[in-house]
Amino acid sequence: MRDFSTDHRWLSINTATVRKQGDFIAIVEACARLGIRAVSPWRDQVAQVGLDKAVKAVRDAGLDLSGYCRGGMFTADKAHLQEARDDNRRAVDEAKALGAPCLVLVVGGLPQYSRPGSTPTKDIGAAQAMVEDEIGVLYEYARKAQLPLAIEPLHPMYAADRACVNTTRQALDICDRLDPAKGNMLGVALDVYHVWWDFELFAQIKRAGQSRLLAFHVCDWLVPTRDLLLDRGMMGDGAIDIPKVRAAVEAEGFSGYVEVEIFSEHWWQRPMEDVLKTCIERYRTVV
Ligand code: ZN
Repeated sequence: MRDFSTDHRWLSINTATVRKQGDFIAIVEACARLGIRAVSPWRDQVAQVGLDKAVKAVRDAGLDLSGYCRGGMFTADKAHLQEARDDNRRAVDEAKALGAPCLVLVVGGLPQYSRPGSTPTKDIGAAQAMVEDEIGVLYEYARKAQLPLAIEPLHPMYAADRACVNTTRQALDICDRLDPAKGNMLGVALDVYHVWWDFELFAQIKRAGQSRLLAFHVCDWLVPTRDLLLDRGMMGDGAIDIPKVRAAVEAEGFSGYVEVEIFSEHWWQRPMEDVLKTCIERYRTVV
């Protein structure tokens, strides 16, 4: 397991962590100033400043990417299916332009929430089947572009609206069916917030192996959690044994950036520099 106590060279900041404090350019510049070597941008933050300007900012600052957030929301009714496919292809193209190592997929829940305007349904099984079919469709495009896809299983509390892939096993089952040869272009993004509770987690990390472990996200699970989406904790403030999970992914050969991804009204109220410095300190001490 890598020693993180003396430097933060493997720290990446997911740009949503400080999205309220500044635009994408300001975030990139602040990270570079603090010796943070990588970011994982969100599409809306890139769109706000323009893709070309975002690409230039990343290059000028000499930053790496640890991922690109996000593709997915695959579930749609017939009338919205093409829109979903086009949108995901654009996400692949943007990820490629920015030099991202993978596109993170939040796969979608029931169609009416994933692609608003879609005919409402309660058929979660059909949504899960559609997710797999549509990942297969996007995978063909992504493979040609040489851009790996990372399925992010989300905590089951998001099954209706954000993702009906909720465990590492479920995500790996999809990977194995679509890519039985393990071609290094399809895998998982493991976020401790979503998977820490799963009694199968460590067995599934072993099963994943290096070729399927494309991204690793950290934050913490607060007790109590006051908001389903916007109350993630800073590492060290909650219930998750983060080093244990990191040790397991690194034991399989994962050697990439550890990405801090915190959506939190609490941390969004702090100055950007304070939040980033706290991320660095916690990365060194509790990750
Ligand atoms: Zn994540």
